[in-house]
Amino acid sequence: MFAMVLNHTGTPLVGETRPDPVPGPGEVLIQITACGVCRTDLHVVDGELPETRLPIIPGHEIVGRVAGLGAGVSHLKLGERVGVGWLGHACGTCPYCAAHEENLCDTPEFTGCTRNGGFATHTVADASFTYPLGEIGEDVALAPLLCAGLIGWRTLKMAGEGRRIGIYGFGAAAHIIAQVARHQGREIYAFTRPGDTKAQDFARSLGAIYAGPSDAPAPVPLDAALIFAPAGELVPQALRAVRKGGRVVCGGIHMSDIPSFPYRWLWEERKIMSVANLTREDAHEFLALAPQVGVTTHVTPYPLTKANEALDDLRTGRLTGAAVLVPEH
Ligand SMILES: [Zn+2]
Ligand SMILES: [Zn+2]
Repeated sequence: MFAMVLNHTGTPLVGETRPDPVPGPGEVLIQITACGVCRTDLHVVDGELPETRLPIIPGHEIVGRVAGLGAGVSHLKLGERVGVGWLGHACGTCPYCAAHEENLCDTPEFTGCTRNGGFATHTVADASFTYPLGEIGEDVALAPLLCAGLIGWRTLKMAGEGRRIGIYGFGAAAHIIAQVARHQGREIYAFTRPGDTKAQDFARSLGAIYAGPSDAPAPVPLDAALIFAPAGELVPQALRAVRKGGRVVCGGIHMSDIPSFPYRWLWEERKIMSVANLTREDAHEFLALAPQVGVTTHVTPYPLTKANEALDDLRTGRLTGAAVLVPEH
């Protein structure tokens, strides 16, 4: 197998040829056909996630075909198209797993962070955290659904039933979940970096009824605001945009510090919430819903060997939509 490997945080990934991994009991070998690049990969590379185990192959939006079955795996077939996301394993026995909150598991494994991920030609995954993807849609187009889509879905669920939804940071997760929210009959208000008219146009093209800079007040009081950009100053800005009882849901895994703000911006039962990881239930719900919605993803494919360029383009905001790495086989 060939992989792009992070040996030390803060350094570029290095291409490496390794023996093909062998699936253990309950695992599958996957021949990867596409792997999305997520902002969390940047946090891994930059050393912002202390749980990261080095050296590591990043990547947790994996699409591929089952190429080998470990002992005891019967629900997946050789050649079947499958996906793997961020939650690579949960223990099944801790108090959180027992309470159907496996996203909060005490001893989880995270794909591309604590176990090797998808910036490679092959990977081994826990079969019970590997999702059949069916045959509808292209591999590169499906890859962003595995994290941007799933985390976006969990974030939208936590926003509640409100109709007016603000979205701060219009990147990969936002461009997917805006389509779902529109399908549900909700109104989307998009907030981007001031001056980023390209992202504002992109948001309007996906059905946002308003798009403007994040430092401007919302045109109407919002029922909920979803924050996908890793900028802590957006939290008080979003709080000011939501109505009484409104929710601000932070969808990212890492964010710069939240500046202090007057208590009255939180008062009247406004809520600040965070989303951590996802459950398999989220994944099955969303992967069934996406084809019904007809979710389309805007992707920029890169050869696997150009992983560092893809990460840089994501970091500098040169991308609209999502970067996807494609290995050569
Ligand atoms: Zn657990
Ligand atoms: Zn991700």
